[in-house]
Amino acid sequence: MIRPVDRQQTTVPAESVTGRHTVALVRTFTFEAAHLLPHAPPGHKCRRLHGHSFRVDLTVDGEVDKRTGWLMDFGDIKAAFAPLLDRLDHHYLNEIDGLENPTAENLTRWIWERLKPDLPELACVTVHETCSARCEFRGER
Ligand SMILES: [Zn+2]
Repeated sequence: MIRPVDRQQTTVPAESVTGRHTVALVRTFTFEAAHLLPHAPPGHKCRRLHGHSFRVDLTVDGEVDKRTGWLMDFGDIKAAFAPLLDRLDHHYLNEIDGLENPTAENLTRWIWERLKPDLPELACVTVHETCSARCEFRGER
């Protein structure tokens, strides 16, 4: 037989029992850069030198600290990404080590590999090439 107190406990949502509160934070950055895609099919417009106003969304996820009410300071994401942003903004991406073929797919991975060691909470890197086209990378699974 289940005592009333036990029955009551089984109806309490798990998150209330553990007190867990997990969230995702997204910090957005923009930069301007030129590139061309050397392996696009012959005649493809992306083989010509051109530029984008790139947008990068960096997502971190984890548990909210009970005392501060924060997962982390948005400023910490900005500080971690600043050196990489400096290497990308107003540069010709094809000239950057590791970005000889600077597709959105390769750019998300390039950012991930350089940022993850300093930002272990990193969960997703999204690179928007245009308002309607973006690539998301969540690490190798
Ligand atoms: Zn392009």
